Amino acid sequence: MAKYIFVTGGVISSLGKGITSASIGRILESRGLKVSLMKCDPYINVDPGTMNPYQHGEVYVTEDGAETDLDLGHYERFTHTEGTRFNNVTTGQVYNTVISRERRGDYLGKTIQVIPHITNEIKDRVKKAAKSSGAEIVLVEIGGTVGDIESLPFLEAARQFSQDFGKDNVLYVHVTLVPYIKCAEEIKTKPTQHSVGTLREIGIQPDILICRTERPLSAEIKEKISLFCNVQKEAVIEARDVASIYQIPIIFKEQVLDEIILSHFKLISKSSELKDWERNVVEKALHPKHTVTIALVGKYTGLQDAYKSIHESLAHAGIANDARVEIKKVDSEDIEKHSAEKVFNGVSGILVPGGFGYRGIEGKIKAIRYARENKVPFLGLCLGMQCAVIEFARAACGLHEANSTEFKPKAKHPVISLIAEQRKIKDMGGTMRLGAYPCRIKKNSLAYKIYGRILIRERHRHRYEFNNKYRAAFQKKGIVFSGIYPQKNLVEIIELKNHPYFIAVQFHPEFKSRPDKAHPLFREFIRSALSHQPSAIS
Ligand code: GLN
Repeated sequence: MAKYIFVTGGVISSLGKGITSASIGRILESRGLKVSLMKCDPYINVDPGTMNPYQHGEVYVTEDGAETDLDLGHYERFTHTEGTRFNNVTTGQVYNTVISRERRGDYLGKTIQVIPHITNEIKDRVKKAAKSSGAEIVLVEIGGTVGDIESLPFLEAARQFSQDFGKDNVLYVHVTLVPYIKCAEEIKTKPTQHSVGTLREIGIQPDILICRTERPLSAEIKEKISLFCNVQKEAVIEARDVASIYQIPIIFKEQVLDEIILSHFKLISKSSELKDWERNVVEKALHPKHTVTIALVGKYTGLQDAYKSIHESLAHAGIANDARVEIKKVDSEDIEKHSAEKVFNGVSGILVPGGFGYRGIEGKIKAIRYARENKVPFLGLCLGMQCAVIEFARAACGLHEANSTEFKPKAKHPVISLIAEQRKIKDMGGTMRLGAYPCRIKKNSLAYKIYGRILIRERHRHRYEFNNKYRAAFQKKGIVFSGIYPQKNLVEIIELKNHPYFIAVQFHPEFKSRPDKAHPLFREFIRSALSHQPSAIS
C-alpha cells in the first residue's frame, strides 16, 4: 500500500507549495523510493485549459495530453516522474462525475452531499492516481490556502485518509509564512499559529511545517512554533528565500527532512545522494561564467507564471552553457508602437512563445522579421512558429495578405489554418491537438544537428496547423520543413537556411526540459545567442 503525504498552504498563496512538494519528491526519490505527485485544484473549471493565463498562469501539458496546473511542471522538473491526466484533480472534474452519476440514477434515491459523495470521489481519484503510478509514496498538493471555502472538501478528504489508512501511513505537511516585520525588527509566528489552528479545526494536525521566511529562524522561534503548533521541533523546517529554486531539495536535506518523513512512515531505505544535483544543477545555476540576454516577446509578460516552463527551460539552457540567462520581457503590443532596433538593443536572442488570439500578433511578426533580417538567434514556439510562417509568407513569398484563419477567418492566403478534424469541433475544452506526437526529423537539417536523431516526441497544445498548400512556395524561398508528423503529414519544425539559428516548432519543447538535461532546442538557442554580438545603440 502507498503512503500519502498531503501538502497544504496557509497564511497567503504563492508560498511555493508546488516547489516544496516537488523538492520533497526529489529527496525521497534520492533515497531510492518511487514517488508520485499530484495536485488538487479547488476551482470549478474542469481543467485550466479554458482559463486566461492571467488567471491561472501557464497550462502545463502532460505526455498523455492533459491540460494541467503548472505545478505538474515542477514535479516533472524536480523528479523523474511523468504526470498523466490522473495527477491533476479539480473540483470541476469531481462534480462533473458525481452529477453525471446522479443523473444516471446510480445513487438509488440518496441525497447527494459534499460528505460523503464529493469527498469519496476525491479520495477515489487520489487512490486511482496512486495505484496507476505504482508509487510507494504519493504526494498530494492541495491548491489554495487553508480557510478558503473551495478547498474544504479536499481538506476533509485528506483528513479522512488518516482515518481510513491509519496515522502511520499518512503525513501532513503545511507550508506557512513566518514574516519579518521591519519596523518591529521581529519575526512573527502568529500567522503560522492561526493557520495551523484553522487546519486543526478541520481535524488535521500537521506533522511538518515548512516555514517560508526572509530571515533565518532562531532556535527560540522554532521552539515557539513547535510549542504553539504542536509539531516536533525538528519538524519545523526553515525555507528561506533562495537565489535558485533548485537549491530547495538540498536545503530540505540539510534539515534531514527525508529522515523525518521516513521515520514517520517507519520506512528504511538507502542513504541519500544529492551530490549530482548539487554539482550539475545548483552550482552551475549559482555561479555561471557568462551572461546572455534573451527577449521573450509575449502578451502575458506581466505575469511570470504565464510562461513558467519557458523561464525554467531558459534557466536549464543557461546551466548547460555555463551562463546566466537574463530575460528581457517584451510586450508584443509595445513593439507595434516602437522601433525594433530600440526594443532589441543589447539582446542576443529572441524567443516568441505560444498564445491565442490576434492581440499582439503584429508585434510578434515584427520581432521575428527583425530576428530574421538581422540574423539574431530566434526560437519560435507554437504560435511563435505560426507567426514566423506569416512573417515569411508576407515578406519573402510576396503573399502580402497572409494570415492565420484564427485571426482572419477569410484570409486571402491562409498559411495557418484548421485541418478538417478541427473544423467540426464545437466544445472548446480539451479539444485541441494535445499531448505527445511523434515527429520525423530531416537529416542534414539544423533540427537534426540539435536533436541528433531522426525520431522525436514532443508535446502539443494548439488547433491550427501549417497549411500544406503553401509548402512549395516557402521551400523555394529558403524555408526548410525539417520536422514532420508522418501519420498526418503535418509541419512540426521549420527553419531558415543562411541564418545562425532560426528555428520554430509547432510543439512546446519547454514541457520537456529538465534542470540537469536542458532541452536541446533551448540549449542550442542559448549556445548560439552566446556567440551573437548584440547590437548596441545609444
Ligand atoms: N493559437 C494557436 C493555435 O491554437 C497557437 C496555440 C499555442 O501557441 N499554444 O493553434
